Amino acid sequence: MKRPKGLKGHCKKCGSCCRNITFAIKKDYIKTEEDFERLKKFDRKYNHFFISGQDEDGVLLFTCKSLTDDNLCRDYFFRSLYCRLYPKIQMKHLKTGGELLDGCGYSFFI
Ligand code: SF4
Ligand code: SF4
Repeated sequence: MKRPKGLKGHCKKCGSCCRNITFAIKKDYIKTEEDFERLKKFDRKYNHFFISGQDEDGVLLFTCKSLTDDNLCRDYFFRSLYCRLYPKIQMKHLKTGGELLDGCGYSFFI
């Protein structure tokens, strides 16, 4: 896929990117609860997420505990760099299969 030149659109505050998070150990996505337990032992910040689903490839999907029922961020002013850069950060990963979430108000342009 061609590297996109930019991003357009706006955030619709659907909360999807805060509840469809994937994590990896080295280059392998977390697919089991055991691996997630290992990850939490490695770094306590992962305790801030819980398993909320699984995609078609068996990759576990996580939801951030700061997400409110009305899709707002309880820690908005203290949110991480990843949160601040999303979805711009996805542009880097497009060549390895990165894509925007369904329904996201942003889109890439070539
Ligand atoms: S998925 Fe897109 S539209 Fe939805 S909250 Fe995240 S950035 Fe906003
Ligand atoms: S800290 Fe806020 S913006 Fe970041 S994933 Fe959690 S709810 Fe979403």
